[in-house]
Amino acid sequence: METRIVPQTEMAAFVGELMKTARVMAPVRRDGVGYFEWLESADQLDATCVVPRSSPKAALLPRCETLFGWRLEKGEQRIVPPPEPIPQILFGLHPCDVRAIATLDAVFASDPSPDRLYLARRAVTTVIGRGSLADPATAFFRELGVDPMDNGGCDLFLAPLDPDRHVLEIISDKGRALLPACERFPKADDRALALLADLRKSSAAKTEANPGLEQLAAKLAGMFESDLWSRIHEHCAGCGVCAFLCPTCHCFDIQEEQRGDRGARVRVWDTCQFGLFTRHASGHNPRTSQKERLRQRIMHKFSYGIEKFKVPFCVGCGRCVGCCPANNDLRAILRTIRETPSE
Ligand code: SF4
Ligand code: SF4
Repeated sequence: METRIVPQTEMAAFVGELMKTARVMAPVRRDGVGYFEWLESADQLDATCVVPRSSPKAALLPRCETLFGWRLEKGEQRIVPPPEPIPQILFGLHPCDVRAIATLDAVFASDPSPDRLYLARRAVTTVIGRGSLADPATAFFRELGVDPMDNGGCDLFLAPLDPDRHVLEIISDKGRALLPACERFPKADDRALALLADLRKSSAAKTEANPGLEQLAAKLAGMFESDLWSRIHEHCAGCGVCAFLCPTCHCFDIQEEQRGDRGARVRVWDTCQFGLFTRHASGHNPRTSQKERLRQRIMHKFSYGIEKFKVPFCVGCGRCVGCCPANNDLRAILRTIRETPSE
């Protein structure tokens, strides 16, 4: 694998080169908070942010997306296909966010209805991951087996050596296509690679090698009627912040919009935390309270996802822990589930 050394001071210049080839989403900082956003200029990059508050999933599953449009022409309805996706680079993704993309890929590529729009966008997406040596306070990705120095799923990976430099690993064909933007950096020497190997070894030692997720899924499958759900939902306000910030949550609604002689069918983010999500046209709602909705969220992430796709729908990024207005802490909920005797 080809490797280069990227000084921290050159990161914005690197992104500037990348922006000549594709649109780039990367961490930016506003009012002291990091977010993933499309860059208008490389100067916007925040090259220190580890896990921004918003995730990069909007690059693959936009908050609002036109599935197709239509217009009336001489009384006939004409279908207007959605625009073709344009090449895009997701820069500076923490390995937990890269793992989250793998779960979205599993869902949107699955039979019997692979999602054509998602897959077309994914095909023109290049993922540039960036590892970290210090874990954010609310993150628990190591408990779920995600190593913050793992380059799996990346086309390019920036592995930190110290605060001043990264080893840039050029991994896939998509990554090699960006070689012209990388050639300005010197090749990594043996000393740098030996240091990286040591850092990886010590990071792996701190990461759970066997997180017991299949056992957790099996246990949850027997807890559908547990009293636990009556307790842990008590503070939940059903605001949906946890789902909208989550890099793996992917529920959506489909709506029709019309103005005059034209309209569109659009897909918009939705969440199982909203009462309206499961309300039938008759007014009946099978999930009558937040108890059923929070149970659904936990079950989907740690039972159904593992059962169907062999991966949890949580990567331990900690966004929901840090941003829940009711201080619901997924780490504590998981601890309680693991400590609850099997029924
Ligand atoms: S962010 Fe907190 S209060 Fe809002 S829906 Fe999620 S768990 Fe409930
Ligand atoms: S459930 Fe919470 S910790 Fe897990 S991936 Fe989603 S936002 Fe991150």
